[in-house]
Amino acid sequence: MLRENISLKPFNTFGIDVNAKYFIEISSEEELIKVLASKKNQEKFILGGGSNMLLTKDIDALILYLNIKGKEIVSQDEASVTVRVAAGENWHNFVLWCIENDYGGLENLSLIPGNVGTAPIQNIGAYGVELKDVFISCEAIHLKTLKKRTFTLSDCKFGYRDSIFKHEIKGEFVITAVNVKLSRNNHSLNTSYGAIEEFLNSNEINTPTIRDVSNAVIAIRKSKLPDPDEIGNSGSFFKNPIISASDFKKLSLKYPSVPSYKLEDGKVKVPAGWLIEQSGFKGKRYGDAGVHKNQALVLVNYGNASGSEVLKLAEKIQKTVAEKFNIHIETEVNIIK
Ligand SMILES: Cc1cc2nc3c(=O)[nH]c(=O)nc-3n(C[C@H](O)[C@H](O)[C@H](O)COP(=O)(O)OP(=O)(O)OC[C@H]3O[C@@H](n4cnc5c(N)ncnc54)[C@H](O)[C@@H]3O)c2cc1C
Repeated sequence: MLRENISLKPFNTFGIDVNAKYFIEISSEEELIKVLASKKNQEKFILGGGSNMLLTKDIDALILYLNIKGKEIVSQDEASVTVRVAAGENWHNFVLWCIENDYGGLENLSLIPGNVGTAPIQNIGAYGVELKDVFISCEAIHLKTLKKRTFTLSDCKFGYRDSIFKHEIKGEFVITAVNVKLSRNNHSLNTSYGAIEEFLNSNEINTPTIRDVSNAVIAIRKSKLPDPDEIGNSGSFFKNPIISASDFKKLSLKYPSVPSYKLEDGKVKVPAGWLIEQSGFKGKRYGDAGVHKNQALVLVNYGNASGSEVLKLAEKIQKTVAEKFNIHIETEVNIIK
């Protein structure tokens, strides 16, 4: 059913109050194709869980609110199972379903908000695991031609919080389903993150299961990240910048305490949160927009901030970090201008 002039405040985790001129909930692929065919000349805007966007203006385009549900086992053998999941399934509920069924591979990605269909857009990742590690393919419909296309792992050009959907074909496709391959036994657990290890040790778990790892991730995330139900936010607002080894050498000479992760290609990832904190923004508040008091990487809406206010703060942070460290920090959140 088409709804007109509704507030998007309940539909984005930042809690930004903008108006949606036309809003339609899509519950099946057939419905999606029908709507696309009948509204050919209208601009479209795809909305999932609204957990990775900053809305800075009213949306005049037709909002397609994806609510296509369903999970099916495509194939399985002793060792693995391939599951097809519809785009509108909630990501965390899907992870919990996998754990319930003892399907391994997604436990480190527990409690990430948003929809399954959005997961490929930025190749969601956390605690040493990314979607690409289990990804087989995703199905998508071209917004204009209505043709269906399957994107394989290599087609998606996944990178750190990155994929082809943010570049070459940005805004051209609606992802309708994702296929992932998960382990059925001998799960290969990734517990290398210090905080996961600490949780397991302090709970005296010596032979962890996927459920233990998921519980660890959930507990860590709850203790570290602000809950969007309590304070509006979109998780990490910026990506961690990746710089060359020689730039990192210069940086660490000037700031010996700079934390870093060395990447396989020799480049170095620097935590954006540290750069922001060193630039004096942690816990700062400007009206209702602010930087979280415990997590400098997370920008928050204390209540009635507008998207432009949050964006202005983000730009101020980017400018200050660039001046101080000569490093550009890119936004991870999709800015809707
Ligand atoms: C508290 C918190 C913690 C977070 N932690 C993490 C984390 O650890 N790791 C991580 O990677 N991310 C994290 N995120 C970001 C976010 O959860 C993910 O990026 C998630 O995949 C976004 O899904 P969504 O459905 O909410 O996307 P939305 O915000 O609805 O959409 C994001 C973008 O994708 C487009 N889009 C949405 N659905 C589709 C579709 N089916 N087809 C094509 N385009 C589409 C939208 O138009 C928009 O441009 C966090 C967010 C929050 C609020």
